[in-house]
Amino acid sequence: MTNKGWRAALIISAGLGLSVNASAGFKVVALGVNGGVEEGNLTSYLIRSDDQSRYLGLDAGSVLPGIGKALEKGSFPEVTSENSAPLTPKGAVFRNLISAYFISHGHLDHLAGLIIASPQDSKKPIYGSAETIDTLRQYYFNWKVWPNFSDSGSGQRLGTYRLNAPRLGQRFSLGLSGLDGVIYPLSHGGIGSSMLLVSRNNDTFAYFGDTGADRLEKSRHLDAAWRALGEEIKQKRLKGLIIETSFTNQTPENQLFGHLTPALLLEELTHLEGYAGGKGSLKGLKVVISHIKPSLTAGADPRADIRQQLEQGNDLGVNFLFMQQGDSLEF
Ligand SMILES: [Zn+2]
Ligand SMILES: [Zn+2]
Repeated sequence: MTNKGWRAALIISAGLGLSVNASAGFKVVALGVNGGVEEGNLTSYLIRSDDQSRYLGLDAGSVLPGIGKALEKGSFPEVTSENSAPLTPKGAVFRNLISAYFISHGHLDHLAGLIIASPQDSKKPIYGSAETIDTLRQYYFNWKVWPNFSDSGSGQRLGTYRLNAPRLGQRFSLGLSGLDGVIYPLSHGGIGSSMLLVSRNNDTFAYFGDTGADRLEKSRHLDAAWRALGEEIKQKRLKGLIIETSFTNQTPENQLFGHLTPALLLEELTHLEGYAGGKGSLKGLKVVISHIKPSLTAGADPRADIRQQLEQGNDLGVNFLFMQQGDSLEF
């Protein structure tokens, strides 16, 4: 094609709203990947758009230990001791690169790191469902378990965090990350959890908080989430998703307490496949498995078992990914 031809093609594709930058997408850094038991590596991810410098925190179970690990692994090449001064590189990522948090639900393994580090955090917004924000206000930032670093609730308000509860299903902008989000409700063994659908330009990414399967939760929430994501896949917008698989298939269904096993996740993903255009429509979809519960039984390796059980039943052709603390991936 001639120069003139390329120019015309670019103008036409821009006019159609098509992305002309093939590398546009998201970067995800895992700050913590486990679903409890041992502090220091609890559920927390960072996401940013490739055309932005600042991140959104997706849950905050372990924050500073995860940033330390990610710096060791070279996941923040833009941060050096020189350009962090007077902060440490860890402090610079924590205070300056994380511009906002989304908290999926009020369980400790999703926000302990944020609470513990809050005295040294910079001002930033926290987003969540009304139920989650209410839990933060009533049960954490209440001067009984911790000083009130938020801008609302009881006693003196220190004001580090602006608490925001956007309406479910309604698009809103996520602070200075440049990302937009829509929150969808999830059922999690008696409490409300949520999924955040992140978007930027013409790309989207889904982050699921803890969730049980609809069949066991007697809920339609995952079904509604799959319907929304099915449309994203049809429109070729969805770059990937993060979802939990807490327990192996050997765990009895009455002991899941609102969590998924490999068999249940595969069963649920079949519903997504239906909404995404039927057989084969999930081929190559990147699905990060998070929130595996570590075992203290000698010789047990739930991570290896869950990986094997997911691959064995993977007739969908999904690309299951297992991030370790400190890893970064492009989507
Ligand atoms: Zn959890
Ligand atoms: Zn939970």
